[in-house]
Amino acid sequence: MTPVLPFIKKQIISEQFDDTPEHFQVYTERQLDKIEALAQLSDEQRFEMKVVANVLPFRVNRYVIDNLINWRDIPADPIFQLVFPQKGMLSQDDFEQMAVVLRNTSDRSIILEKANEIRRRLNPHPAEQQSLNVPYIEDAPIEGIQHKYRETVLFFPSQGQVCHSFCSFCFRWAQFIGDKDLRFSNREAQKLHTYLSQHKNISDLLITGGDPMVMKTDHLVAYLEPMLKPEFAHIQTIRIGTKSLSFWPQRYVNDEDAAQLVSLLERMVKAGKHIAIMAHFNHWREMATPLVREAIQRLRAAGVVIRTQSPLLNHINNDPEVWAYMWREQVHQGLVPYYMFVERDTGARRYFEVPLARAWEVYREALQHVSGLGRTARGPSMSTGPGKVEIQGIAQINGEKVFVLRFLQARNPDWVQRPFFAQFDPDATWLDQLQPAFGETKFFFQDEYDAMLNKQISPRAY
Ligand SMILES: *Cc1c(COP(=O)(O)O)cnc(C)c1O
Repeated sequence: MTPVLPFIKKQIISEQFDDTPEHFQVYTERQLDKIEALAQLSDEQRFEMKVVANVLPFRVNRYVIDNLINWRDIPADPIFQLVFPQKGMLSQDDFEQMAVVLRNTSDRSIILEKANEIRRRLNPHPAEQQSLNVPYIEDAPIEGIQHKYRETVLFFPSQGQVCHSFCSFCFRWAQFIGDKDLRFSNREAQKLHTYLSQHKNISDLLITGGDPMVMKTDHLVAYLEPMLKPEFAHIQTIRIGTKSLSFWPQRYVNDEDAAQLVSLLERMVKAGKHIAIMAHFNHWREMATPLVREAIQRLRAAGVVIRTQSPLLNHINNDPEVWAYMWREQVHQGLVPYYMFVERDTGARRYFEVPLARAWEVYREALQHVSGLGRTARGPSMSTGPGKVEIQGIAQINGEKVFVLRFLQARNPDWVQRPFFAQFDPDATWLDQLQPAFGETKFFFQDEYDAMLNKQISPRAY
């Protein structure tokens, strides 16, 4: 498959990126009508988008509209599906209910009430993140931090609680609809620093969001530079989870403080930290513009390691060829494929989910078409309450067809890498739909995990 991108004008004219700084222009649900390209849709289609965008977060910027979407191929275009609301993202019933409200009123409070009612049905906080992952300093919960796996702490800086565009399938969608209760954020880096300095078994700090790269470089300096102090010598790796390479590569090339950002990262690397950009790419298309290539080169020249991850998504990348091409292209540009995720059980999951059996097939077939350097992505992996569960394969054991599973990460490190087995189910899309194989009544970790949920033992067994 050759990636021909005739709709990207700059690409045809030259491989050179355009160095003129670009004004960041963003559209949300209220400005859907201002996006000229949508004029080619029918009134009915535009109304459908509004219905969905009043429930699930919507935000897109000009770079995505002008460079990543093939407007001659909508609605099927994968990047169009990735950012623009589609009717199927809500259940038929929820869709109809919101459509009725929108047809009958423009009163924001009535619309919001219906939106919130629907949102509550969409499992806004999966995997017990709020109840089990929040750490404590002297019995006081620390907001804006999650600590689930021994080695790695997640930090949600308050200025990074938005993204350059929103992904329609985002599992953190609830953070973007203004529900303060659901928002992880942290005004005080102080608490993060106290927690990290008191826990010497933490080696990785993962700064996430939203997207931390929406922050001005000044803010990133304030969070990152203290990590060079001796009391944080145990923090070897700082990971930054971001989709900015896809949605706004200008961040590293011609934003006002781009050079300052790249030099901050370089300074951290030179001081001995491993700086890892955990780049979110769902489709090779996002890696094909001259601007993203330039951004990648600048980051690599600064000594940053870029690792990549993505969920497997129906309508976007449910195709082994797309993954194989993406992973080859990543290796080509010096990136390291890291995770293939299973779409989480939240938000618009019905629209994007694929059966676990299919997920494994896509992974396996894609892996067969890349060299060893492209086979570093693990998965397909489900981020569940007890841990990250990988589907290792489908096997026939003593006449029983089973899924072979293992934890890649777990609340109890002792669970990691133990194979376990579930009855094969061609339709299952998540761990909670699987039954233990071989006549067993529960999975090996179930009792211990239940005790964590019931607060009989700590949610972190380490
Ligand atoms: C995936 C994940 C991590 C990182 O796990 P690694 O296997 O080290 O990449 C850390 N915390 C949470 C909550 C995660 O979901």
